[in-house]
Amino acid sequence: MKVKKFGGTSVGSAERIKNVGKLISGDGKNVIVLSAMSGTTNSLIEICDALKADDRQLAAKRIKDLRDKYTRVVEDLYGTEEYKSKANQIIDDIFSTIREAADADYCIDVRKRIVATGELMSTNLMHLHLKEKGINAQLLPALDFMKTDIHGEPDSEYIEREARKAITACPEADLYITQGFICRNAEGKIDNLERGGSDYTASLLGAALNADEIEIWTDIDGMHNNDPRFVEGTTPVHNLHFEEAAELAYFGAKILHPTCIQPAKARNIPVRLLNTLDPKAKGTLIENTLERNTIKAVAAKDNITAIKIKSGRMLLAYGFLKKVFEIFEKYETAIDMITTSEVGVSLTIDNEKNLTPIVEELKALGTVSIDRDMVIICVVGDLEWTNRGFEAKALEALCNVPVRMISYGGSNYNISFLIRSEDKVRALRMLSYHLF
Ligand code: ASP
Ligand code: MG
Repeated sequence: MKVKKFGGTSVGSAERIKNVGKLISGDGKNVIVLSAMSGTTNSLIEICDALKADDRQLAAKRIKDLRDKYTRVVEDLYGTEEYKSKANQIIDDIFSTIREAADADYCIDVRKRIVATGELMSTNLMHLHLKEKGINAQLLPALDFMKTDIHGEPDSEYIEREARKAITACPEADLYITQGFICRNAEGKIDNLERGGSDYTASLLGAALNADEIEIWTDIDGMHNNDPRFVEGTTPVHNLHFEEAAELAYFGAKILHPTCIQPAKARNIPVRLLNTLDPKAKGTLIENTLERNTIKAVAAKDNITAIKIKSGRMLLAYGFLKKVFEIFEKYETAIDMITTSEVGVSLTIDNEKNLTPIVEELKALGTVSIDRDMVIICVVGDLEWTNRGFEAKALEALCNVPVRMISYGGSNYNISFLIRSEDKVRALRMLSYHLF
């Protein structure tokens, strides 16, 4: 059994839904995870923003616009009046829950209930479409088994138990369809796995069901060796180690959500990235195998802030870094990169929300300086330290780019450079030119 996840653009129109319908039928009793149709989650968030701002009129208009969009999708998706009317009934019910939630006093629970409806719509539309085509698809409500614990982390035991139960309850189904992204929290309320979280759903389910493979279908033929938006002639990387893929996903490759790798890796379930527009293309296979002596890919993460703390007190002292880290922990701010010298430490964050209080507290430890508008360039591959020449090659490619920080040796799979945003495109191009 496989878990196959289709992203928002893959189900972004009636035509695309039909296309995915063809791809998933006749291929065994797989579990299909769907995102909301592209644009829908954003629209739902806009509705919530209007409600939060107490602009009921704007919210009502946005709800109507979104309903109109689904009227057109229903019209194009189904062949018979019977199914059009069934689909409209379901969409009407979902919009009733949106309007009900919108009428209540705005709070975070209202927001989460509204945002969850995107996946409910896409899965219901697909389910009915398959029914109309004579395929006995079973809709599995993700809210029955996707759950987070009191820390907001997936409750793997619960997911495994309940997802298995849901599937064994319908043995006669040709395949199963469920919602990505949405879940219940520890209190049993509707919640979600954060933006882009459908990949995470697929990976968690793949692990829970011990799937043969997890497929992530998007509209590009796998993970490319550089960012195709900025670099010409990039090519798909056909094989990646879990760790390499995790680094690339975290440091900017948009195709895969960074949280998606961990559950698959823990159960050693291969993850395959495939293209709905070119289903025969090889894509990228992510598994526990490392190709030796190759640099695989480059990715960039934007909006990075570097913080330097210089202090004579660091010299020959212990406990200095602990004090630094505690400040970041206190303000729940993750550190991405770190480099140290005997008299200072530089680190980077991608979330400036608490920068002011962080800097205030850091000043007690030394002189603090900040560099904004920076980018982390991450080079991924077999970068085990005993290999010779690979890190030198990456450095050489950047010989004309001012480099603020370098991080190497933290894992066997990457070397990261911190540079200015304005140098990013040039750096990515130089790296492709020198490395691939
Ligand atoms: N629909 C959600 C989003 O747009 C989840 C996903 O697509 O993965 O973020
Ligand atoms: Mg996505």
